[in-house]
Amino acid sequence: METATGLLTCQIRGRLTAAARRTTSPVVTGDQVEIAETAPGRGVVESVAPRRSTVSRVASGARPYQQVVAANLDRFFIVVSARQPAFNPGFVDRAMVVALSGGIEPVVCINKIDLDAAVAHDEAVALYRHLGYRVLLVSAATGEGMEPLRQAFAERVSALVGQSGVGKSTILNHIEPGLELTTRGLMTRHDRGRHTTTATQLYALSMGGYVADTPGVKQLQPWGLTRDDLVQCFVEMAPLAGSCQFRDCTHLHEPGCAIREAVEAGQIHSRRYEGYCRMAEGIEVGGGRTDA
Ligand code: GDP
Ligand code: ZN
Repeated sequence: METATGLLTCQIRGRLTAAARRTTSPVVTGDQVEIAETAPGRGVVESVAPRRSTVSRVASGARPYQQVVAANLDRFFIVVSARQPAFNPGFVDRAMVVALSGGIEPVVCINKIDLDAAVAHDEAVALYRHLGYRVLLVSAATGEGMEPLRQAFAERVSALVGQSGVGKSTILNHIEPGLELTTRGLMTRHDRGRHTTTATQLYALSMGGYVADTPGVKQLQPWGLTRDDLVQCFVEMAPLAGSCQFRDCTHLHEPGCAIREAVEAGQIHSRRYEGYCRMAEGIEVGGGRTDA
């Protein structure tokens, strides 16, 4: 633990590990903890404050279980690129569910606009803005659009999520040159005896705020969502969910489904609806994993 007085190697109180054993690591990146110093350079985590937000992934084991990988993030920068790799709105939809279901604000960041300025006119950009989400168009290579992005990092705890090659490291280097993104992995031993290095690190930014080094979002599947929870993450579908003919409508195939009617009427974009369907089909009744 990095503290005002230096680095402390901390143990975690036994009762905290016991309480958390079934679901997650007791202390993860971003947790606010109370530490007591027990000896010079040594301490013990006494308590963990309630988490404002969480990012979970499905950890594999004999039975898949939930692993919280970060806590108290304010903002997800969902990074995609205009080209190389090609703009992928489906990825944005999925990452948004991870963000929204965890209580994190999503900001869409489209990088590499120097390669294809026309992406600004892509209908997905207009759609996200219409739905109330912030979309920033940037080029980490030329610096275009980077100042608003920089400001969006200030005073917040953020993470960049995106597929490999979209420019996450380049963006971070632009925002905070010299930020050392070598992982001083926090080894945790609480995942049923195995060592993992998924929980990593928060880096302090000179303008205030932190950026978390999160593992690839591919593994960041929303955990334990019911279909009702999932619908709530699609802001244009949520208000209609109570108007379906069947109270337990899954919105996948039932007659009299208000959401499907709105898709047919062109009020809900079919790509967003298809994204919902892909994720909903992965949910067992009563919640579970959502593979998308
Ligand atoms: P990451 O895997 O998401 O961290 O992606 P990187 O930051 O490593 O970038 C992948 C490649 O894209 C590198 O070759 C970068 O130089 C390049 N790149 C990043 N941002 C831009 C950009 O705005 N424009 C262009 N043309 N290339 C970029
Ligand atoms: Zn329905």
